[in-house]
Amino acid sequence: MKYIGAHVSASGGVDNAPRNAAEIGATAFALFTKNQRQWAAPPLSEQQIEAFRAECERLGYTAAQILPHDSYLINLGHPEEEPLEKSRASFLHEMQRCEQLGLDRLNFHPGSHLKKISEEESLRLVAESINIALDKTSGVTAVIENTAGQGSNLGYAFWHLAYIIDRVEDKSRVGVCLDTCHSFAAGYDLSTEKGCDEVFAEFEREVGFRYLRGMHLNDAMKPLGSRVDRHSPLGEGYLGITPFRYIMQDSRFDNIPLILETPDEERWAEEIALLKSFAEEK
Ligand SMILES: [Zn+2]
Ligand SMILES: [Zn+2]
Repeated sequence: MKYIGAHVSASGGVDNAPRNAAEIGATAFALFTKNQRQWAAPPLSEQQIEAFRAECERLGYTAAQILPHDSYLINLGHPEEEPLEKSRASFLHEMQRCEQLGLDRLNFHPGSHLKKISEEESLRLVAESINIALDKTSGVTAVIENTAGQGSNLGYAFWHLAYIIDRVEDKSRVGVCLDTCHSFAAGYDLSTEKGCDEVFAEFEREVGFRYLRGMHLNDAMKPLGSRVDRHSPLGEGYLGITPFRYIMQDSRFDNIPLILETPDEERWAEEIALLKSFAEEK
């Protein structure tokens, strides 16, 4: 089964997200469980938690169809102690919010070394951060997203993902989310079928599909290897439509949330319908 959706708004309350997803014909969705540009958030009330769970149930969304994303402020590989601690505390809160909402995974960007420590040192901090959060929560998987590698952001190479996973104690609660735009910007050429075959084979060798817990489906506004994170609507960037048809027709991407983060939300319903049609062509 293909679960296809978009990163929808949760403004006005998390229980609005499932409704926003249903309105565009989505069978999956992503959301922020708090304001993604702020550190603090009021705790979720019993009423909000109940309303979210009830809406998901009413509209037919199970945890396997939902991919929450954490705040952009968090840097789990921060080279300095105080901001690292702040990030770890905030990440733990986000994991706990997922737990409360009955969600089983949290998508995050690994972090940045800020040119102050090596990539490996920063990746080890990320792994330690994940271990700390997993130790204090249950039932929620930490889902590392691959990145475009802009600035000093880690996670642009598959070996970064593997390096972190290797150092996570509970392998049953660590996973990855591949973003098609980020992959391409990082130099993984998904623009052709042959390219998809090769890149996903490399992913299988270096990380393993058993860790894949979600995908972000975005076209790329900048060329291969640009290391620039700019998304385009499907079929309008350097990737073109080929990789999206490929993913929809490949069973390695079954039963995980496949999430659009394309820039024009007015077009999500149409993009979702297109993806569904590819899945049905098979
Ligand atoms: Zn992301
Ligand atoms: Zn993404």
